[in-house]
Amino acid sequence: MPPMTVALVAHDQKKDALVAWARQWEVALARHRLLGTGSTAQLLEKACPSLRVEALLSGPEGGDMQIGARIVEGNIDVLVFFPDPLNAHPHEADFQALIRVALMKDILFALSPRSADFLARGLFE
Ligand code: PGA
Repeated sequence: MPPMTVALVAHDQKKDALVAWARQWEVALARHRLLGTGSTAQLLEKACPSLRVEALLSGPEGGDMQIGARIVEGNIDVLVFFPDPLNAHPHEADFQALIRVALMKDILFALSPRSADFLARGLFE
């Protein structure tokens, strides 16, 4: 499979879940181009030494919008985004827009760990 561009985003309460997911799929992910919102990207690089994750701005500072822009431009193939359903976020409008453009461009995306596993099995196994 040719390398894909995979965007990774997790809200604070879901970062552990995304790290666990990335560890599980680390070998496969290492073959693809990865980018993420600032804190998520840093955390993933620390947890998964074989991964290089391009860090955009932090989500609340516009990182979701940067990823959205890349989706609109056709430069992202897969989005794995674990939002926190239990807390309000100041940048809610930004990640609603992120999901909107992911739908508009019909890219592959997963919003929960089990969905991300299902997606990864289809893509990477
Ligand atoms: P972060 O952003 O990776 O910089 O924490 C994620 C978000 O809150 O959208």
